[in-house]
Amino acid sequence: MWDAVLGELQLQVPKPSYETWLRGTTGVSMSDGALVVRTPNAFVSEMLDTRMYSLISRCLEGITGDPMEIRFEVGGEARKPARTSPQVPRTDDAGTAQLPLDQDRAATSQARSRPSYRRVDLNGRYRFENFIVGSSNNLAHAAAVAVSENPGFVYNPLVLYSGVGLGKTHLMHAIGHQVREAGHDVLYTTTEEFTNEYIRGIREGTTEEFRDRYRSTDVLLLDDIQFIIGKEQTQEGFFHTFNALHMAGKQIVITCDRPVSELSLLQDRISSRLAGGLVVDIQIPDFETRMAILRSKAEQIDRRFPDKVLEFIAGRVQRNVRELEGCLNIVAAYAGLGHQSLNGDPKADVDLGLVEQALEDSLKESNRRVSEEDVLSAVARYFSIDKSTLKGKKRDRTHGPGATCLHVPSA
Ligand code: ADP
Ligand code: MG
Repeated sequence: MWDAVLGELQLQVPKPSYETWLRGTTGVSMSDGALVVRTPNAFVSEMLDTRMYSLISRCLEGITGDPMEIRFEVGGEARKPARTSPQVPRTDDAGTAQLPLDQDRAATSQARSRPSYRRVDLNGRYRFENFIVGSSNNLAHAAAVAVSENPGFVYNPLVLYSGVGLGKTHLMHAIGHQVREAGHDVLYTTTEEFTNEYIRGIREGTTEEFRDRYRSTDVLLLDDIQFIIGKEQTQEGFFHTFNALHMAGKQIVITCDRPVSELSLLQDRISSRLAGGLVVDIQIPDFETRMAILRSKAEQIDRRFPDKVLEFIAGRVQRNVRELEGCLNIVAAYAGLGHQSLNGDPKADVDLGLVEQALEDSLKESNRRVSEEDVLSAVARYFSIDKSTLKGKKRDRTHGPGATCLHVPSA
């Protein structure tokens, strides 16, 4: 089986990469629906797992007809100290990662400490089934459902935008689950991860792996694209990735914390590509929707609360579903500490002073945070920079006045 995959990979991967990463591998077994592949050392395993997984998995699926997990295991020998382990080839004609052999182990542990991109994956709780639909989000929900039923054919790209904590990521993951279950290859990533990977690809001469990873998917889910503002090089990488996928009819879904028209520092060509799909927003949920969300979350944590308690929370927390959930959890914990009146009969009459007490700090914190966030958002919008630039400890000089990232819109 693995030999067949290797044969296919040989056609798809540039020769130096093939020689470096794939030649020394062997198929060992199929167990628990997973194909186990032996590699000469941990570094090769790490490389294949983090950089080439989706390509390999696609080839395998092309041969077996079914998606199957692949596990890379280091061959017996390689468990001994690096000195005696089969060695990673030093050089690579294409200029990909070159490692002196005596640093093999260091490189391996370095590779281990890197984030493994496949771990940024879909949250199992973010599904359509537990997304509450109301007038604030019904359009976004309908678009997400349509895309998940016909990826690549309806709205491409689909751009979801809203303020923080209003369900963009939830809907995006829901699409991901749905299309994955229908057998499509899905790649979910945050824009921060995308940026890190792209920059690392350039720095380490592994842009091919980057391309492999991003262009081999059927559906690309890119969360929080506003983080790409001001990062010209990454925008370039994104533009090419976008075009390649789009031309191949692959679905792209993007989330953003502001309207596309306000992404002023995104290269025009990207803004216009995004605007060429469907851009749909999520508004702040109304009281009824907030109540429905609270009821659903209470059910998920297997608790019942008096209506009065839920109404109190829904009345106090209006602009952010994540905070709504946070408050519910605090009340749940408080109720668990013996305040029985907060827990139980939905019709019970309770002393809301207790709820207020439970939520005191959190509501204070939430008000404080909201106002701080508001100021940051306003400033960030005005200067067309992203908020993380304002918040970051280290403010890059290039973000200073006169640099390309600072753009004061004419009034
Ligand atoms: P965003 O990406 O817009 O910042 P998230 O998708 O992370 O927001 O949502 C924040 C939290 O609120 C998540 O736990 C999510 O499940 C929940 N949430 C948001 N909208 C809804 C909804 N309509 N129904 C159920 N849960 C929701
Ligand atoms: Mg999000």
